[in-house]
Amino acid sequence: MTFSDLGLCKELLDAIKDQGYTKPSPIQEQAIPIILEKKDVLAGAQTGTGKTAGFTLPILQRLHDKKRGTGKPHVRALILTPTRELAAQVGENVKTYGKYLPFKSTIVFGGVGINPQRAAIRKGVDIVIATPGRLLDLISQDSLDLGRVEFFVLDEADRMLDMGFIHDIKKVLALLPAHRQNLLFSATFSDDIKKLADKLLNNPELIEVARRNTSSETVEQVVHHVDRERKRDLLIHLIKKDNWKQVLVFTRTKHGANRLSEQLNKFDISSSAIHGNKSQGARTKALADFKAGNIKVLVATDIAARGIDIDQLPHVVNFELPNVAEDYVHRIGRTGRAGREGEAVSLVCVDEHDYLKGIEKLINKQIKKVIIEGFEVNPSIKAEPITRSGQNRGNSSNNTNSSRNNRNKNDSRTSKNNPRNNPRANTNSSRSNSRKTQGKSSGRA
Ligand code: ADP
Ligand code: MG
Repeated sequence: MTFSDLGLCKELLDAIKDQGYTKPSPIQEQAIPIILEKKDVLAGAQTGTGKTAGFTLPILQRLHDKKRGTGKPHVRALILTPTRELAAQVGENVKTYGKYLPFKSTIVFGGVGINPQRAAIRKGVDIVIATPGRLLDLISQDSLDLGRVEFFVLDEADRMLDMGFIHDIKKVLALLPAHRQNLLFSATFSDDIKKLADKLLNNPELIEVARRNTSSETVEQVVHHVDRERKRDLLIHLIKKDNWKQVLVFTRTKHGANRLSEQLNKFDISSSAIHGNKSQGARTKALADFKAGNIKVLVATDIAARGIDIDQLPHVVNFELPNVAEDYVHRIGRTGRAGREGEAVSLVCVDEHDYLKGIEKLINKQIKKVIIEGFEVNPSIKAEPITRSGQNRGNSSNNTNSSRNNRNKNDSRTSKNNPRNNPRANTNSSRSNSRKTQGKSSGRA
């Protein structure tokens, strides 16, 4: 099957050709015709399978089919994403695929000035790609009207729920017209996702192109058992031995990400950290430097790295295993994208054996174990508990509370920390409550 078999217009086909795509990916092959038929969709596919084009192309096609009048554009499509980086990336994709069409799109997220975003919307846009917090801020200032939205997309919906955005999502839903097309995309399916889908979607088509929660087959996975205190040396050894040029490294905590990045720099391995406590400017710069090859190692927490697409990223390292098994699938999905080969290495110490078991159960396979010479495990070291904030008790210097509070800043709604400034104080407090009850995700920003 080709893209032109899918009935896309010449403007889209030309843009696809410019990207060098030769044929639609399986999720695109299935999702595009259904979306063109105006049906609601619940779609699940492994990360890196091209979900973004899977919804962006047919939306652009339908916007094109139903030409707007000559007046100022109004918001016809709304795409919600959990993180700023993902909003930026999806926004880029919309611009890329829509470059020969007349539609205007804009990205809306927190952590950067609101005025330019307000100005862009005032001028008139057809497509808005947004994180929920800033979107609601703009709406509460009367800067944005969702009353004529025809297409509503939730991208990475599972992560939105993990991040406690359910109340914001409900607020947004209440502002949308009843008659619209809804698309819900997610890499993993949970019961909460199904519940949300029941509420949001109208008689949806279910698309699932890979078995649920499977890890990408193009990623070669390996575990190196190693002592807790020797992980850093092993990482440096691996990077230097094979002269790795671009490595995305995951830690469980923001503090751990900072510390590791500083240590790598001391060993002449250029590195930056990316997590929810960094300013948006610093996050954007770190990611751009990493993509451009100016730094070798990007150390990230789960939330900061969610959904980001780095072209041909060869190596992902789990410096620490995630405490939520699904995150492992997301992490390693940063490599081996679009059918390319990639390698995912996990450094596992004695404290993390239960996490490893949980991951292997989820992906339904045993990961290859390789001991690196000189880094053999010392069997006399006993397991230490890992706190709910994700740190080993032994080296903790952050407390759980502060890292939980910091999480709220991930979507950068700093002004809302002051309830007087915050028209949505209720939402905010119920969001934190829902977070507290979700122990599984605390402290992972
Ligand atoms: P997902 O959202 O499923 O994780 P993305 O939409 O971010 O995946 O796409 C992953 C990568 O695959 C991107 O770099 C994108 O440019 C590329 N890609 C998308 N569709 C195709 C295609 N049909 N052929 C080749 N590459 C593609
Ligand atoms: Mg995606």
